Amino acid sequence: MRVGIGFDAHRLVAGRSLVLGGVAIPFEKGLLGHSDGDVLLHAICDALLGAASLGDMGKYFPSSDPKYKDASSMLFLEEAARLLRQTGSRLSNVDATIIAQWPTLQPYLEAMRERVAKALGLELTRVSVKAKSSDGLGFTGRGEGIAAMAVVAIEEQE
Ligand code: MG
Repeated sequence: MRVGIGFDAHRLVAGRSLVLGGVAIPFEKGLLGHSDGDVLLHAICDALLGAASLGDMGKYFPSSDPKYKDASSMLFLEEAARLLRQTGSRLSNVDATIIAQWPTLQPYLEAMRERVAKALGLELTRVSVKAKSSDGLGFTGRGEGIAAMAVVAIEEQE
């Protein structure tokens, strides 16, 4: 058994769509990024890659690559899962937390779980997505950005 950890944060700006966990969320701002800025999926990607010591997202999906401009981060998630499978490891579970003051994410968490589970080929019971505010503190508390963290466990095959 091995574990991986991932973290990401992006700036909230006007004129962008907010996409978290592959789910479009109605809000006045969205996350700035070369891709769709989906911090949750980026954190999970880094956790997947980290669990197998494969490096990080920047190694496989550089923001200098025009191919990934405004790309759906679901592509990154599916590719990270493929890279992990290639090592012969099996993904056991994913747990993630989104840190955002606004908007209220509770109504969207189940849809995010379903999207992530489907992309990773996991049963729903093996995927957890939670949301927290940071009690008004820091950049997330001021609504300047949204952060996410994730851990995954993998089983190395004999
Ligand atoms: Mg990112």
